[in-house]
Amino acid sequence: MGRYDFTQNIETVCARAGQGERDGDPLVNAIVQSTTFCREGLSTTPQHAYSRVSNPTVNALERELGLLEDAPPAVAFSTGLAAESVLFQTLLREGDHVICSRAVYGGTTRLLQQVLSGLGIETSFIDTTDTRVVANALRAKTRLLFVETPANPTLDVSDIEALARIARQAEIVFAVDNTFLTPALQKPLELGAHVSIYSTTKLIEGHSIALGGAILSHDDELLERLRFVRKCTGSIQTPFNAWLTLQGFKTLPLRIRAQSRTAEQVAEWLAKHARVVRVRYPSLAKDGQAKVAARQHLDYHGTVIAFELKGGAAAARQVIENVRLFHFVEHVGSVDSLITHPASMTHADVPPEERARVGVTDGLIRLSIGLEHVNDILADLDQAIDYQFSSKARNAREVDACAPTD
Ligand SMILES: *Cc1c(COP(=O)(O)O)cnc(C)c1O
Repeated sequence: MGRYDFTQNIETVCARAGQGERDGDPLVNAIVQSTTFCREGLSTTPQHAYSRVSNPTVNALERELGLLEDAPPAVAFSTGLAAESVLFQTLLREGDHVICSRAVYGGTTRLLQQVLSGLGIETSFIDTTDTRVVANALRAKTRLLFVETPANPTLDVSDIEALARIARQAEIVFAVDNTFLTPALQKPLELGAHVSIYSTTKLIEGHSIALGGAILSHDDELLERLRFVRKCTGSIQTPFNAWLTLQGFKTLPLRIRAQSRTAEQVAEWLAKHARVVRVRYPSLAKDGQAKVAARQHLDYHGTVIAFELKGGAAAARQVIENVRLFHFVEHVGSVDSLITHPASMTHADVPPEERARVGVTDGLIRLSIGLEHVNDILADLDQAIDYQFSSKARNAREVDACAPTD
């Protein structure tokens, strides 16, 4: 690329994503919606044959995603869970064993517990923040260590470098779900992971308009096998969603840093609030996790916070029903601030005893901080937290108590 290497800095890689280079190229990458591609004759092998196998717009996204971790082009999928499914189908056979973080996205637990188990694949859900627990969970048939850090929704931080050493010694694949930080704030491959995996639906696309997933690795043979299983199972990203993801991608470093800076301020404000009993955010974590976070995160700790109020589930309900700026949805990582109740939403399919063990209590509230001004976010949380103690709420409860119930 001439005299100066533009691929050094992530802001530049992202801002230039999907742009033309040659004479007459469109400046912004085209959306190629065609399902199939023309051939001249039986002896030609065109670059693209059918869009379930490969597509120029999807390829453009894959190239850019790979650059974020200095890796070959990524393998892009229709959703984050499609990426996980293909990873599992590629690596695992009947009788194999998986070690997975116990605090993990609810859909990952559901896939392993309710689908993969039926195919004879057993998973141990353990505390991956403790490397001794991980070493003790290894079996002769263990093939994969799957870790989410920071984890959804408890924000537990696992030490990627230490886990990579264990996985290397045991000769198993080590995959990190890096959805919450993205390569802008954490680079699992550089820290020794074999695979980094993403729901691009969240921060990478960033505007709540396109589902998607991606897998990155330096292992060319694994990437080839993933592409083959993706072709067999029909789980490739669509051209339009690849294009939307490329547009969001351009501002990823700016968005995630600004939103994370605000999130840290909100987490610190919550930690000092008289009605808050517990805040989960990587820089406020205990047991050495904050030190690991400072070492493996790139300056910021992400946009997601979880917290609990005095009054548990009832207090959580009051806050969720009384916020005005936050949107009550099942989602994280958008430009808007979002609020979620993990126990009844993202983790509803995780059995209650399991939820309790992991720390997903009925009173836990998850926030995803957006691009709004920090003062507006704090003012909204303040009025929603105070609402239950105000006279207006007391009156409303008295009216409720008199109302007929069905
Ligand atoms: C959302 C999410 C997924 C699943 O991604 P989809 O695109 O919704 O299928 C996986 N892991 C994490 C950490 C997530 O937040």
